[in-house]
Amino acid sequence: MSERDDSYDPQHAVHTKKGRYYCDPATGEMLVSVTNALDEHAIEALAPAAAKATAEWLMDNLPKAIRAAADPEDMEAFIKEAKAQYKVQWEKKADLGSRVHNIAEAINLGAPYIPDEEAEPFVESYRKFLRDFGVDIRRRDIKAAECTVLHRGLGYGGTSDIWAYLTFDGPTSPIVPRFRPRKVPADPIPTPSGLWLIDIKTSLTKPASAVYDDRVLQLAALRNAEVALVCPPECRYGEAEFHDSSHEFPVPEFVGTAILNLRETTYGFVPLPADQAAFEAFCGLLPLARYVHELDLRGFKPVQPPTNHRKAA
Ligand SMILES: [Zn+2]
Repeated sequence: MSERDDSYDPQHAVHTKKGRYYCDPATGEMLVSVTNALDEHAIEALAPAAAKATAEWLMDNLPKAIRAAADPEDMEAFIKEAKAQYKVQWEKKADLGSRVHNIAEAINLGAPYIPDEEAEPFVESYRKFLRDFGVDIRRRDIKAAECTVLHRGLGYGGTSDIWAYLTFDGPTSPIVPRFRPRKVPADPIPTPSGLWLIDIKTSLTKPASAVYDDRVLQLAALRNAEVALVCPPECRYGEAEFHDSSHEFPVPEFVGTAILNLRETTYGFVPLPADQAAFEAFCGLLPLARYVHELDLRGFKPVQPPTNHRKAA
């Protein structure tokens, strides 16, 4: 999933063989990205999702599959192609997600953007969210957009999509009727008014109510980062001699954290409990990611049996 256009990369992000890292412009130190650390937490849904994408591609290519089945070499080539398809599809999705993010950022900054037909329905859903939740760009309700945040003490970095001031009717809000849960009580969800940390998720297929456990960990990691960076272009790559403390400010306190699911015709704003326990769970992944990324097992192979035993036999 690394063949993406670099222009979409967040500030200070670096591609490595071990996934995304952030390079601290103050020290040059490499800090593991929040989502990279989260990859150490096995997401059960990934394998079935890959299987589904593979099966769908196979159905779309059935005549070719049947032809390939007649010849062992053709079959091997076909299977190789089929195996790569889920990645191709996921990269396409990641690319669309990045484009939607970039346009949302432009909207937040009141900046112009190049129209993008495929991204436009999601952008329209984003505008609807802004209208429905009374977020006014001109009133500076959005405090930050696509902001790189670091936790130097714990050695991680990430990108936070939106920090927005939201005003709700009361301390809790009712769930949208069609999304009311069936197996647990449909309790109102805490929605204090104030500054919220919001992460945008784009999907063509998942419902606007979709939530996953790693989202909670991600929000907790972003919310608990120490500093946010607002660097000029000259210190965006590597350790920068121009970098100084005026490019940094402390990450503020948030009254709530949420994901904003953008869909083609709708959206879902889902507050999630990214609390201290979620943060501690995320922190548990950091030593694991650090250890596994350093581990090199290439030299470890089966050894020969001891010769003295071989003689005896
Ligand atoms: Zn800087």
